[in-house]
Amino acid sequence: MPPVYPPAALFIDGEWLERPGAPVICPATGETLGSVPHAGKEDLDRALAAAERGFAVWRETAPDRRAEIILEAMRLLRARAGEIATTITLEQGKPLASAKAEVLRGSELVAWDAEEGRRAYGRVIPAPPGFRQSVRLEPIGPVAAFTPWSAPTSAPGRKLGAALAAGCSVVLKAAEETPGGACALVQCFADAGLPAGVVNLVFGSPAEISSHLIASPVIRLVTFTGSVPVGIHLAGLAAARMKPAVMELGGHGPVVVCEDADPLAAALQAAAAKFRNAGQVCISPTRFLVHERHYRPFVEAFVRQAAAIKVGNGLDPDSQMGPLANDRRVRAMEELVEDALALGGRCLTGGKRLPGAGHFFPPTVLEQVPAEARILTEEPFGPVAVMDSFRSLEEAIAKANATRYGLAAYAFTDSAAAAETLSERLEVGHVAINHFGGGVPESPFGGVKESGIGREGGKESLDAYLVTKYVSQRFLAR
Ligand code: NAD
Repeated sequence: MPPVYPPAALFIDGEWLERPGAPVICPATGETLGSVPHAGKEDLDRALAAAERGFAVWRETAPDRRAEIILEAMRLLRARAGEIATTITLEQGKPLASAKAEVLRGSELVAWDAEEGRRAYGRVIPAPPGFRQSVRLEPIGPVAAFTPWSAPTSAPGRKLGAALAAGCSVVLKAAEETPGGACALVQCFADAGLPAGVVNLVFGSPAEISSHLIASPVIRLVTFTGSVPVGIHLAGLAAARMKPAVMELGGHGPVVVCEDADPLAAALQAAAAKFRNAGQVCISPTRFLVHERHYRPFVEAFVRQAAAIKVGNGLDPDSQMGPLANDRRVRAMEELVEDALALGGRCLTGGKRLPGAGHFFPPTVLEQVPAEARILTEEPFGPVAVMDSFRSLEEAIAKANATRYGLAAYAFTDSAAAAETLSERLEVGHVAINHFGGGVPESPFGGVKESGIGREGGKESLDAYLVTKYVSQRFLAR
C-alpha cells in the first residue's frame, strides 16, 4: 500500500475549512500529493476575529491548565510521530528517520515552553510604607506567525509552544509547500482540548497574508522563521505599525578546524552534519576553515564521506539524504556552483543535479572559491560545502566573521584557550565546540547581525510573547 498523504485544510475558529488552492508536490517523485487551500481576505478576517476571541478565553485560562493542554497535545504528537513523519517525508523529502526525529524534537521544544508558562514570574519592587510596587508579565496578545518548509512540524511548534504557553492566541501561516506537517500539529492541539480560536492556521499567497495580518490592529507580535530578505521585509511591515518582531533567519555557519584538532574525526562528523536535511537547515555548517597543516587530509576525508552518502527517496530506509524540498533549491544550487566555478573555484565532488524525476542534487564540495563568489555571500541552504584554509586563529576568526550572517558556528580544538577565544570572538548566537549538536530545549536559539532578532527556547523563550507592566499602588489610610 503506498503511503497516504492527508488532505490539508485551513483551521479557523476550531473548524477545518476546505478551499481551492495549489498542488502540493512530492520532491522525490515530482508527483502531486494533494492540494494546499488558499485563504481569501474573508478567511483571514475570520481568523483574526477568532484569534481576538480566542485570546480573551486563553489569557483567562489558568497557566497550569494551559500547560496541561499543551502537554497533552505533545503526547498526541509523539503518539502520532510515525504517521506524521511519513507525511513530512512525502511533502518535504527528508528521510523518514530524520522526519520522525524532527517531530520528537519539536515535541520536546514545545513541552519546555509549556512548563515555562508556569514560571512566567513577575516581581515585587521594594516600596515605601503604604505602597506596593510590582511588575506583572502579561501575554502580548494575538500573534501572527510564519514558518518555512524546512521543518514542517517543529518550526510551527516553536512558534505555537511559546505563544500558547505565554497565554497568546495565534494566526499561523505555515509553508504552502509542506502543509501536512503543520495540519497534523494543529490537529493535536484541537484534540487536546485547545479552545476554538486560540490557534488558527492559514495558507495562501505569503505576501498577501503577511501584509493583511501584520496591518491588522488585532495582531500584537510578528514572528517569522525563513530567509533574510523575507525577514527584513516582514520586520519592516511590523515596524511600520510599531509591532515587535521575532526573526529567526538564515545563517552561513563557519567550521574552524584548529591545528590541535583531529582532522579525520572532525571531517567524519562534519560531513554527516553538513548533509543533514540536504543542507536545508538554518544552522547547517557551510564554510569549512581548516588549519593549513590539516587541510588536505580533512578535505580528502570529507569528500570521501560526502561521495558515499546514499541519496534517494526519503521513504527508502537506505536513503541517507533525500531530495531538495523544491525545484527552486535545485536551481539555486546550480547557480551558486556555476558562479563559484566561473570565478576559479574547483568542484571536488557532486556539482550537478541528478538525472531522473524529483529534485535531487548530490553532496557537493567546492574549494578555491574566491570571497566574492555568491556561495560565500548568500546562505546556500543546500548540500554544498566550501573548503578553505587558514594559518592563524586570528585569520580563521576574521574569515568566519566576514559575513552579514551570524547564526551558528562550530570549532574543533583540543585547546581550552582556543575554545575560549573562539567562543568569545565568533559573531553568532550559537557556538558548538567539538560537535555539531544543535540547541536543546533549555538553550536560547537565535542570531546576531542579519540572522535575526530575538530568541526561541531557553528561559528567554516566552520573552517576546509577554509584556511587562509596572503597577504602583498606594494603600489609602482609613
Ligand atoms: P523565500 O525566501 O521566498 O521563502 C522562505 C519562506 O518565507 C517560505 O516559507 C515562504 O512561504 C515565506 N515567505 C516568502 N515571502 C513571504 C512574505 N512576503 N510573507 C510571509 N512569508 C513569506 O524562499 P524559498 O525559496 O522558499 O526558500 C529559500 C530561502 O529561504 C533559502 O535560501 C533559505 O535562506 C531560506 N530559508 C531559511 C530557513 C530558516 O530556517 N532560516 C528555512 C527555510 C528557508
